[in-house]
Amino acid sequence: MTTAVVVGAGPNGLTAAAVLSRAGLEVTVLERLATIGGAVASAPAFGDQALIDLGAAAHPFGVTSPAFRALGLEQHGLEWLHADYPMAHPLPGGRAAILYRDAERTARELGVDREAWLRMHAPATEHPHDTAAAILGPLLRWPDDPLLLARFGLRGAWPSTLLARSVFRSGAAQALFAGSVTHATLPLKHPLTSAFGVAFGGVGHSAGWPFARGGSQSIADALVRVADAAGARIETGVDVTDLRDLPGADVVLLDVTPHQLLRLAGDSLEGPYAKRMRRWKYGPAVSKLDLLLDGPIPWEDERVARAGTVHLGGTMREIAAAEHDVAVGRMPDEPFVLLTQPTVAEPERAPAGRHIVWAYAHVPYGWPGDASAAIEAQIERFAPGFRDRILERLPSPPAALELWNPNLVGGTIGGGTLAGSQQLVRPWPIDPYRVPLPGRVFLCSSSTPPGGGAHGMSGWHAAKAALKAIGG
Ligand SMILES: Cc1cc2nc3c(=O)[nH]c(=O)nc-3n(C[C@H](O)[C@H](O)[C@H](O)COP(=O)(O)OP(=O)(O)OC[C@H]3O[C@@H](n4cnc5c(N)ncnc54)[C@H](O)[C@@H]3O)c2cc1C
Repeated sequence: MTTAVVVGAGPNGLTAAAVLSRAGLEVTVLERLATIGGAVASAPAFGDQALIDLGAAAHPFGVTSPAFRALGLEQHGLEWLHADYPMAHPLPGGRAAILYRDAERTARELGVDREAWLRMHAPATEHPHDTAAAILGPLLRWPDDPLLLARFGLRGAWPSTLLARSVFRSGAAQALFAGSVTHATLPLKHPLTSAFGVAFGGVGHSAGWPFARGGSQSIADALVRVADAAGARIETGVDVTDLRDLPGADVVLLDVTPHQLLRLAGDSLEGPYAKRMRRWKYGPAVSKLDLLLDGPIPWEDERVARAGTVHLGGTMREIAAAEHDVAVGRMPDEPFVLLTQPTVAEPERAPAGRHIVWAYAHVPYGWPGDASAAIEAQIERFAPGFRDRILERLPSPPAALELWNPNLVGGTIGGGTLAGSQQLVRPWPIDPYRVPLPGRVFLCSSSTPPGGGAHGMSGWHAAKAALKAIGG
């Protein structure tokens, strides 16, 4: 029987394991931690009173992931839960712009920008699943739907600040768009950043930005059920430190990033490939903070309390300045904060009447500090009195994130920046998943296309590349 070893049980490693075992391979997954899930794991917190997501929380590209749909995760226990609104963006002055699961309603509230908002987001709003399929693959390939990608690309290719200023007249529309762009963790004036604004906004209009019932861990658990049903074996507590220690296998898939790959491969990886791995850039990082509150956040605009995700950074100008600072290695006084309110969609994650808050601030790569105070200040700015509701805090600064999961190098969460050539060449041209080592070795982490996010698509494409290599 053809055998496969997968190192790392993050969503990409598990997706690869599910695909390979379904294809008939005998698959063994080795995970260093005692638990599986990588950056989609969830765990009890605050004295076991609440369930928090240790990594990913909101899932616009989980709910639209072609891999998760093809593997039938919803038939294996995964349930998406939607808050009333996917996202809200509080603005200076007390009002918020809201992203509804309804493009027309979102656009109508943006007044003068109604037409422009609808036009900008039309392809992604009308075809959320096709949009996800088009963008969640290697960019350097012939697209499945060239027309859709072309319509999307017409808008997505532009630097987001330039596009937003030329298309939107109101500060509300510009800020709402800019908040979605920050998911790229790139300076907003960077080319192609508009793609993030268009994709996150458009997919939000139709598919939403849901949570997973029971925490994001349920995504990993559903993947394990699929892999398990096809005969895969998962061994936890196995920290692989040298590729030579792996059991012999026809294919090896590594859910790790380039710097880890260099350590695992030792001297056997050389030449231009090794050089590119050594030069791999990770980009800005995050500093995370989980909170237990004795009630909901007292947002100035009460509608924000019904949103799953909240973007905190004020105007587009303020957000662009903060994102520029973190990209050049400077910690801003008011960093951009991405916040989710899981108990809005699933109150059972905390004791009755209490709420949990999951938030992170964008900070420079490897920043040695803890952004908890700055995160609280950003929330307080748009929700006066919020601090009085805090019962407990659980900070996870960049160093703690990397200690937990070595893929989060320097506190980064996307497997490597999308700046420069790394947007198109992740991490290597032509066959991005194949590692030039003896045997058939593949990278399957978010350092490969399409990049970060809890969608399993890197694992999906890597597994397909591995199957092709063995003629399957
Ligand atoms: C704080 C945070 C918030 C995020 N928020 C979101 C969000 O809201 N929505 C979203 O879509 N995405 C989000 N992400 C990003 C998303 O979680 C990641 O892009 C995704 O988990 C990457 O999956 P992966 O399988 O490539 O790697 P990971 O999930 O990092 O998994 C890698 C696994 O490999 C294991 N491993 C590594 N080295 C070894 C070794 N040598 N031996 C054995 N095992 C090893 C690790 O322990 C880990 O379990 C967030 C990430 C973080 C950290």
